[in-house]
Amino acid sequence: EGTKPNNFLRHVIENDLQQGTYATRHWAGSPGDAAHQQAGASDPARIRTRFPPEPNGYLHVGHAKSICLNFGLARDYAGVCHLRFDDTNPEREEQEYVDSIVDAVQWLGFDWQANGTCHLYYASNYFDFMFRAAEYLIGAGHAYVDEQTPEEMRARRGDFNTPGTDSPFRSRSAQENLARFRDMRQGLLPDGAAVLRARIDMGHPNINLRDPAIYRIKHATHHNTGDKWCIYPMYTFAHPIEDALENITHSICTLEFEDQRPFYDWLLDRLREGGLINAPQPRQYEFARLNLTYVVTSKRRLKQLVDDGHVAGWDDPRMPTIVGLRRRGYTPESIQLFCERIGVTKDYSWIDYSALEGALRDDLEHKAHRGMVVLYPVKLVLTNWDELMGAGHLEPCTLPALPHPPEGQPEPAARRFTIGREVWIERDDFAEVPPKGYKRLFPGNRVRLKGGYVIECTGCLKDAAGDITEVHATVVPDTKSGTPGADSVKVKAAITWVGVADGVAAQVRLYDRLFTDPQPDAGGKDFIALLNPGSLRTVRAYVEPSLAAAQPDQKFQFERVGYFVADRKDHRPGQPVFNRITSLKDSWGK
Ligand code: ATP
Ligand code: MG
Ligand code: MG
Repeated sequence: EGTKPNNFLRHVIENDLQQGTYATRHWAGSPGDAAHQQAGASDPARIRTRFPPEPNGYLHVGHAKSICLNFGLARDYAGVCHLRFDDTNPEREEQEYVDSIVDAVQWLGFDWQANGTCHLYYASNYFDFMFRAAEYLIGAGHAYVDEQTPEEMRARRGDFNTPGTDSPFRSRSAQENLARFRDMRQGLLPDGAAVLRARIDMGHPNINLRDPAIYRIKHATHHNTGDKWCIYPMYTFAHPIEDALENITHSICTLEFEDQRPFYDWLLDRLREGGLINAPQPRQYEFARLNLTYVVTSKRRLKQLVDDGHVAGWDDPRMPTIVGLRRRGYTPESIQLFCERIGVTKDYSWIDYSALEGALRDDLEHKAHRGMVVLYPVKLVLTNWDELMGAGHLEPCTLPALPHPPEGQPEPAARRFTIGREVWIERDDFAEVPPKGYKRLFPGNRVRLKGGYVIECTGCLKDAAGDITEVHATVVPDTKSGTPGADSVKVKAAITWVGVADGVAAQVRLYDRLFTDPQPDAGGKDFIALLNPGSLRTVRAYVEPSLAAAQPDQKFQFERVGYFVADRKDHRPGQPVFNRITSLKDSWGK
């Protein structure tokens, strides 16, 4: 750590900067639309990346990898990263998703401003240019309107072993094609009646180059352009144009798009020849997508979990969405750290969920204030308290809020709480008959109440069913933590506790993995059947008084138990609600 992450993309960029690949670019006066001019208008020597989500759902941890990568590269090489809504599909896109994406990127710690320019774009603002580009391709003989049925088209496409065969519409003249394309645009043809296709090579070994469709008819209202269009560009056509218009230098995408790269280059070569875009063209680079165990990272599947009520919403703390991780208690720093650690490669792999938790622990260890909680309380009565301390006496205690603050930071004020005759302890910190090696409370054994006294267990009370209702112990005099001689009595264990007098009842949500299978959506598995029925357990716990004053979203380390956050939505001072982010140690897979 401390050194910059090293990956193949950094090598590419460093080489481009050294060679001055983008230093000679003509930015001003380039063709295209207003949005294009704006995007290009700044320092040409810089690199430009983009994060191009489709606003059809909430972002997930896989997107976080792409965000950290693209915005991180721009930051580290004094470049610019654009946030671009890839909104070329009219039916699935909504403002709610646009807003949530803006929030998620900002929360992760990135922004799209550079030199006072806001680099936030909508692909749909380029529809006019895309239409002109399509007309240019038709005129130059590089595209034609195909009116075969989808079945005929599929049949003539061939497959991996068989070359395709030409459509009967392939040889129409440019003029005929132009007229037909305008018919499409004017709404004279119904959905599916025709598509515009690139004219490349039906025998090409790469199926993506067998005359791919570039425009289709869709009589649908678009969230940005309304009813202006009834034809929409295909992603493979739109994306390279978006990159070129925004003067993107390095267009970074996941490996599934590797086979599309030849078309990306083919299209931009044609448009450059036609003077529609400038050199140097953007180039596409691919990296391996994030696959994280025990989660699904497909917006479609995540939407299904929400729509079918398997989780409480997109921001359910069990969801791998960015809003879900945020509500669970993950910090932007921990997600950035995670993305740095997993690195960027071209190799298909699975990352263990514990890597995400590890990053959270490492981030919070020196930040999160400590606190004590009792999750499964049983009452401990100190039977000699009144005699020793005076009836009703409450003895003030303190413990550090942060035992090891980050370097250069002052130690925060200590936590204050009291001990009295009755305290809450964890049920499993007492055993009437101790199992082998048990060091906590059992009759005759001594332990320290953390930050309080050494006590000696004397027994317990039970109800008619045999359940333990009270544990009894006596205080060993002169053993209060922090007083001289406190350590003269040696014990093998210290247990956490909360005073009955000043402890505050809290709702604590104990989250576990959402799925029981490490790869719930691999190989055609029914991921719904693999949901973990125990992924949420809610307990009524007691917390020490300082925690009742927690602010929503404040994170804590509950001693011996784990990292917790005051729920952003439901926590109220005096009515605390805490989410478990993760346990203290890696218990994943055990
Ligand atoms: P989904 O399949 O979940 O809908 P998507 O790739 O269709 O994801 P987009 O909105 O197109 O969603 O994604 C925006 C960017 O995020 C893309 O550039 C894509 O490469 C990247 N991305 C999506 N999922 C992952 C992932 N699991 N790992 C890394 N990058 C990802
Ligand atoms: Mg996509
Ligand atoms: Mg998708």
